Amino acid sequence: MTEPVRTCAACGTKRGKGEMQRFVWGDEQPVRDADGRCKGRGAYCCRDEICLERFLSQKKKWKRLFRL
Ligand SMILES: [Zn+2]
Repeated sequence: MTEPVRTCAACGTKRGKGEMQRFVWGDEQPVRDADGRCKGRGAYCCRDEICLERFLSQKKKWKRLFRL
């Protein structure tokens, strides 16, 4: 079985879903979806401090990512 591939919202790297961390929209900011079961549109980010920081600072992108 092939793992679904997701694109990092910060750097654009494509990786297997299991290698990414998933985020969903919280009240005012993205929140990590630890077990991947939260409903709603998710965004993915590498498990990487730099990507995570970049992702969390890209506020302008959130609107599109989460279809706010
Ligand atoms: Zn990345």
